[in-house]
Amino acid sequence: MEELLSEKPREECAVIGVYNHPEAARVAYQGLFALQHRGQEASGIASSNGKQLFRHVDMGLVADVFSDATIFDRLKGSLAIGHNRYSTTGSSMKVNAQPLVVNSKDGPWAISHNGNFVNSHLLRTQLEAEGSLFQTTTDTEIVLHLAARSRKTDIVSRLKEALEKIQGAYSMVIATRQKLVAVRDPHGFRPLCLGKRGDSYIVASETCAFDLVGADFIREINPGEILLINENQLYSTYLQPRVDRRACIFEFIYFSRPDSFIFGHAVDKIRRKFGKVLALEQPAEADIVVSVPDSSNTAALGYSHTSGIKFEIGLIRNHYIGRTFILPDQTMRDLKTLFKFNPVQGVIENRRIVIVDDSIVRGTTLRQLTKMFRRAGAREVHVRVSSPPIRYPCYYGMDFPTPEELVAGKQSIDEVRNYIQADSLGYLSLEGLLSAIPDGNLGFCTACFDGEYPILPENAISKFHLEVPIVS
Ligand code: SF4
Repeated sequence: MEELLSEKPREECAVIGVYNHPEAARVAYQGLFALQHRGQEASGIASSNGKQLFRHVDMGLVADVFSDATIFDRLKGSLAIGHNRYSTTGSSMKVNAQPLVVNSKDGPWAISHNGNFVNSHLLRTQLEAEGSLFQTTTDTEIVLHLAARSRKTDIVSRLKEALEKIQGAYSMVIATRQKLVAVRDPHGFRPLCLGKRGDSYIVASETCAFDLVGADFIREINPGEILLINENQLYSTYLQPRVDRRACIFEFIYFSRPDSFIFGHAVDKIRRKFGKVLALEQPAEADIVVSVPDSSNTAALGYSHTSGIKFEIGLIRNHYIGRTFILPDQTMRDLKTLFKFNPVQGVIENRRIVIVDDSIVRGTTLRQLTKMFRRAGAREVHVRVSSPPIRYPCYYGMDFPTPEELVAGKQSIDEVRNYIQADSLGYLSLEGLLSAIPDGNLGFCTACFDGEYPILPENAISKFHLEVPIVS
């Protein structure tokens, strides 16, 4: 695929489930709209009227995929699940758009998945050798094939049997004709939240979806939990053995929206604290703080607050480009930052600037930005980053480039500074990052910074066992 405009790591997906709402598909649509930042390649909804499943998926943004209002007349029923996709496994094509819907021996199932399995190649090869015919190239379909082979009679037991064989990151929602199931992997890499609106239950990747649909946040789906919603009751079961939580710390740094509440905390508060700790660890002599909008705004405000250096809007972002804006050749790609950002000369001129960015991946955007600021008359350009250097790939669903392409993968901090042409460069330390989260020493994945992987792709298949179901 051609390089896209964004050089940030890309989130792989958003999921939503709606139970017991007369216009479930419309509510799912609203939720997907709020979760658009987690995936912009494709979107889809599957609904059930209790007898039949209906589905509409297509490539594109939520508003484009559902631009024809008559689609909702066809997405009947009071139960629906939805999905926004950014492909990290499987190609970017309509056949891989979710929810996937299949017919099983006890009727149709629909599934939406956020995350990546680390043993999908092995499982798929085994399943194909035993005669399974895959319709897509996504790892999500493996769950359906494994569950279809189970001899258990209820959906939760069949899912458990399938998940016993799967390792990796998954927050998913599954719909049958009458039931909604929400599942989070034992490490809890990706967020998944439960909300309620009147008599309806909503499950969503992030709580910002609840605000748009008017639902109240109840709680998060716990790591390893399988939550069944049926006949307006919640039934909760846990995969065994219980393992330590390893929530993705990058959700706080960049992926999740600042108005969401995930992993027990408001994202805005944590992100702001990253900026505050960064200011203590990496002070700068400067006149103004400028953020790389929008994802760095909150950390930049934190930096400004603690350093006492005034925050200014010195960089304007073009919001109308879209994430699928393709730059056809190298010359165009070199111009990509110009398409996206423009400095405010009156703010920048004759000033010493601290640019706060949430992360550096390839460094190409920051290199262009420092040039832009100097052209706009900046006296000095200092770069501060509210996360540690990214040195390792992510196996759990984030689309980082290879270590060779990561600017900090093989280079020292001074070499990175030289590459981005900054007067100084300072990253938040890993200790500083974790100290900014009240329970930061407990249960976060930091593998892209320190290479400490909770599960390696080549790990042997672990065994999860059923626990006595808890009714909550
Ligand atoms: S490797 Fe990094 S991006 Fe991937 S799950 Fe861990 S913290 Fe998140």
